[in-house]
Amino acid sequence: MLTKNQADIWSDFLAYIEERCSAAEFQNWIAPIQVADSATDELVLLVPNIFVQEYLLQNYKKDLAGFIPLKTNGDLALKFVIAEEAKKQPVVQQAPSPPPPQDSFKLNPHYTFENFIEGASNQFVKSAALGVASHPGKSYNPLFIHGGVGLGKTHLLHAIGHYIKLHHKKLKIHCITTEGFINDIVDNLKNKTMDRMKRFYRSLDILLVDDIQFLQNRLNFEDEFCNTFESLINQNKQIVITCDKPPSQLKLSERLVARMEWGLVAHIGAPDIETRVAILQHKAELRGIRLPHKVAFFIAEHIYNNVRQLEGAINRLSAFSRLIGKEVTEEVVENTLGELLQHNPQKRVSVDHILQCVGTVFEVRVSDLRGTSRQKNVALPRQVAMYLAKELMTDSLMKLASSFGGKTHSTLLHAWKKISDLLASDETLRRKVEMARRNLEE
Ligand code: ADP
Ligand code: MG
Repeated sequence: MLTKNQADIWSDFLAYIEERCSAAEFQNWIAPIQVADSATDELVLLVPNIFVQEYLLQNYKKDLAGFIPLKTNGDLALKFVIAEEAKKQPVVQQAPSPPPPQDSFKLNPHYTFENFIEGASNQFVKSAALGVASHPGKSYNPLFIHGGVGLGKTHLLHAIGHYIKLHHKKLKIHCITTEGFINDIVDNLKNKTMDRMKRFYRSLDILLVDDIQFLQNRLNFEDEFCNTFESLINQNKQIVITCDKPPSQLKLSERLVARMEWGLVAHIGAPDIETRVAILQHKAELRGIRLPHKVAFFIAEHIYNNVRQLEGAINRLSAFSRLIGKEVTEEVVENTLGELLQHNPQKRVSVDHILQCVGTVFEVRVSDLRGTSRQKNVALPRQVAMYLAKELMTDSLMKLASSFGGKTHSTLLHAWKKISDLLASDETLRRKVEMARRNLEE
């Protein structure tokens, strides 16, 4: 039961929250909420739309609990009324307003297919992207590109955009980040132009969406996205999505996940050393610096899981060589790149080190990992160690297997496959493996 006046409770809460969020956040999300004028024993809040309600509960539920008493069932004595529904205005037929201008989005001018260096880790996804760009809506739909940070997902997405703008001038294309899509919805809700926004999105020929992982836990936005998605796909309009994980690992509705798996799911992996060298040389050439092959190889050996960092290295070297006017040598690289280099040449990953790190994370003795026990609490970490060895070491399978105390290479391969499969579904295991990997890379 509320003892205090409802309006007082809310204004106390406002004073409290205003100190704890940014002015823009307060203005956009909190200020529009009003206390509804009804005498019940719950605090009734009038919100402009469901998103504001969701926002408040997602971000401030705990804080609210400090102000609003609990009901006997343990819930907050709080209720929402959505203003749009409360009004239920008669629908006024609006004259169709012009859609947002076609060029309201920006493509990075450097992210073209020409500037994308191919290698074993990205050949497949690049040709899929090129296929989609050449025949939008007619090859893979949707195309879902996933992979780790800094491996070229946004680059490929924009490359598709450039290609289509150049070769299919008549097609209506839009490229957006997931955050941008959400902001679009919020803005249009505020301006009461949702209809126009829906019409715009549903009239596209190609929709490029970057970083869909940000749609997770945004329930109502997910619905709107799903509707847009279905409407486009049903008309054979092309959709391309990028993400840091495969669809199956996204915390999104089954319906949307299934839709995203309809077309082609393509993985973009970390480039191998030859590709890294080629990327470095290409970027150096673009910046007009001469990078001897030996030096490129040296950098590529030390920066191996993120292309963005390779680029960072080139930027630093280019600034340095312009400043000092010196040849870029290995020594210059070591001096200028310092902490960017991920491990120094003497400190390569070894099986011993892997066993130690895995032992620590999984709380198993290294001697047990080296032993033959088939108990699950030992066998699984042992397989993780084999998995990491195959992932992180360049030795042949045969050599790796023998470093694990005379195992065969098929045992090692089996372990690698099993852990790879498990990682796709087992979040706890994934965290532990990541932790071990991070310790190794320190
Ligand atoms: P992601 O979106 O996967 O995090 P980006 O597309 O932003 O990664 O790529 C990071 C940087 O690396 C960009 O500057 C991009 O141009 C560059 N890059 C990534 N892969 C390649 C590649 N294969 N060839 C050339 N540049 C690449
Ligand atoms: Mg990106």
